[in-house]
Amino acid sequence: MRRSLVDPDPVSHLSDMLPPALPLVDSFGRLHNNLRISVTDRCNIRCVYCMPETVRFLPRAEVLRFEEIARVVRAAVPLGIDKLRLTGGEPLVRRDLPRLITLLAEIDGIRDIALTTNGILLAPMARQLWDAGLRRINVSLDTLDPTRFEQLTRRSGFEQVIEGIHAAREAGFHPVKINAVAIKGVTEDDVVPLARFGRDHGCEIRFIEYMPLDAGDAWERGKVLFAEEILDRLAAEFGPLEPAPDQDPRAPALDYVYTDGHPARVGLIASVSRPFCGSCNRLRLTADGKLRNCLFALDETDLRALLRGGADDEALRAAIRASVAAKWEGHEINTARFIKPARLMHAIGG
Ligand code: SAM
Ligand code: SF4
Repeated sequence: MRRSLVDPDPVSHLSDMLPPALPLVDSFGRLHNNLRISVTDRCNIRCVYCMPETVRFLPRAEVLRFEEIARVVRAAVPLGIDKLRLTGGEPLVRRDLPRLITLLAEIDGIRDIALTTNGILLAPMARQLWDAGLRRINVSLDTLDPTRFEQLTRRSGFEQVIEGIHAAREAGFHPVKINAVAIKGVTEDDVVPLARFGRDHGCEIRFIEYMPLDAGDAWERGKVLFAEEILDRLAAEFGPLEPAPDQDPRAPALDYVYTDGHPARVGLIASVSRPFCGSCNRLRLTADGKLRNCLFALDETDLRALLRGGADDEALRAAIRASVAAKWEGHEINTARFIKPARLMHAIGG
């Protein structure tokens, strides 16, 4: 409805027209409904592209308690947040995680809760996670070669991850998605075996282009195994793939299907070669309660200070809104202006 150009009381008129809480739309028109929650910065392995061997983790008192996380989510639901993903660090090292899932699943308005895990602790927990209300799971696994697994993670645990994937399927998670970081000269030979594993075991493999969020300055563009190269490798082995007809335009992964009739899907998260910032709908809450409006954000909003300082839900919502309003157009990995965030991936929550 258009307002008359001559409005005797424009302010009250406008407030009459507004819904009780406006959705989270940023200055580029992107609607935000997806909150990724890091439940810990700790991890039981040390992937070379994510964290250094020696890390100073957050003191426990600085980490949000489950009730604090649930309070942020409850405050954010009227703003349109309805999808959650729990991540970390490694979320399964956080004691009692199923209790948090139950708390979040009980919040009216939350319609989807997912988890990203390295899978090492998954096998004994898969059923409990399902029973708590979790319905979607991504397991990170970059290789099916146990030796390369140890080189990439600086730890053992390959067999547990495989057991975790099977246990998740048995518990009811379909499909289990597998995230594989694609690094040139390191994981090229893993592309086809991982895709074959996905085809054989009903998993969707999602290849993620290596991003500059690791410790030190190991990342360089030349080390990114690009989505196009991955597709070429897959096509050489299985025949051409084509974009999935039911693509979700807001999802980070470009989904592909095989043309040989096999029902498996392959996802490509081309964060470097084809950034998807234009359709980004995500916010991130770090384990220490900082809201980040982008994986690569340089600024954060301190929700923990508000939570522990006695702020009411309206104040939390105002802070969330301000963070979204300040969101930039997109990351600048492909430009000379790119500045790497001070936080490493494990401390942001991927
Ligand atoms: N520990 C859990 C795991 O590994 O699944 C959750 C946290 S981890 C930071 C989330 C995702 O980020 C994983 O799939 C991991 O492979 C990915 N990741 C970490 N560092 C990355 C990087 N430098 N580039 C691309 N993906 C990365
Ligand atoms: Fe841990 Fe996940 Fe980072 Fe690997 S990618 S070190 S599993 S947080």
